[in-house]
Amino acid sequence: MPFKALLLSEPLLRGVQAAGYTDPTPIQLRAIPAVLSGRDLIASAQTGTGKTAAFALPVLHRLGAHGRARVLVLEPTRELAAQVETAFRDFARFTDLRTVAVFGGVGYGHQRNELKRGVDIIVATPGRLVDYLKDGTISLRDISILILDEVDRMLDMGFLPTVKDIIARCPKDRQTLFFSATVPPELQAVASFALRDPARIEVGVNRSVNQSVNHALYPVAHGQKFELLLALLGQAGFDSVLVFSRTKHGADKIAHKLKAANHSVAVLHANRSQNQRIEALAGFKSGKYEVMVATDIAARGIDVAGVTHVINYDVPENPEDYVHRIGRTGRAQAVGDAFTLVTPENADLIHGIQRFIGQKIPELKMPGFNYLPFTARPPAPPQQRGGGGGRGFGGGGGRRGGFGGGGGGRSAGGGRGRR
Ligand code: AMP
Repeated sequence: MPFKALLLSEPLLRGVQAAGYTDPTPIQLRAIPAVLSGRDLIASAQTGTGKTAAFALPVLHRLGAHGRARVLVLEPTRELAAQVETAFRDFARFTDLRTVAVFGGVGYGHQRNELKRGVDIIVATPGRLVDYLKDGTISLRDISILILDEVDRMLDMGFLPTVKDIIARCPKDRQTLFFSATVPPELQAVASFALRDPARIEVGVNRSVNQSVNHALYPVAHGQKFELLLALLGQAGFDSVLVFSRTKHGADKIAHKLKAANHSVAVLHANRSQNQRIEALAGFKSGKYEVMVATDIAARGIDVAGVTHVINYDVPENPEDYVHRIGRTGRAQAVGDAFTLVTPENADLIHGIQRFIGQKIPELKMPGFNYLPFTARPPAPPQQRGGGGGRGFGGGGGRRGGFGGGGGGRSAGGGRGRR
């Protein structure tokens, strides 16, 4: 079905065409009519499914022409706020509707000027929005559509009280839309406070790994993780690689060592200044940097077309983050690879992820890599959920004798044609 059949206005259909979209994605097919009908909505869909257009297009249609600030979109991170505002702006390019992005880490002057000029759509992170509400720069009295995007992450980041306060300041007579990858119980509680008889849309299974991603585990001894990362990066086809680190400090360390090995590297985490974050993302998107090392929060939802590989340098502690991280590659119609470096200490985390996604992740070995025999490390700290001792990854139990020691893992070279 083409976009035209969704009965969007002519200027918006032109905007969609200019964005290069031909057919709506499943979430767009289902959410656009629901939002156009004026109903409240809870939509569970992962990033990468086209959810931004799923809310932006019908909302722009409902606004019609330029007027007052009638739409508020809340986003958990600055990057997402900037990205979603750009999407609104792109789709609205043949209308007179105005948008502004409101987020911290940058000066107030430019945002204040834009707000003074008069805007229809405000895309904001909660903190900076509250600053403007306090000093009267923004009033929410005319908001008729409130959108909470990535609500689960917003709650994870501790924004619940602020978000509740913001919702309470919006007029009661409004349309409210929730978009979230998962719908945890805390989210249900906010939903019952913020939404009226919402329609529910679930696209894909929340736990599902994007079909267009090939993912695999690379078992390795702890001391060889960086060496294996370098070897992976050296393979043909690793053109644009997102590397995930569990901590900010770890991300800095990996980036530093990659630079020393002559890779062009950007770093994205919450301790970087806003300008550094913008530069990192822009440089990675433009191809100036072949590798971007990031932490989960910074990378949530960011849209970088053409990421060829995601490498989890550290296994994510939260199984949902696994799905999100590897969703950074293979977005929309593209195909991507996602690899996770796994040390024996990570066995329990891997079992948790496999249970969560309902599938076993294949193990691969890097051909020609000089795997050292595994030597046991000191007991894992409590947060690593020790317990499992020497559990192997292949389900064999007690495999303590070195992952590289033949057998088991499929070879990376075998039948996995490079795209
Ligand atoms: P999102 O889930 O909104 O972050 O979108 C993921 C990616 O898919 C972005 O690069 C979008 O530009 C792209 N996209 C969204 N909708 C479509 C569509 N209907 N056709 C092609 N690409 C799309």
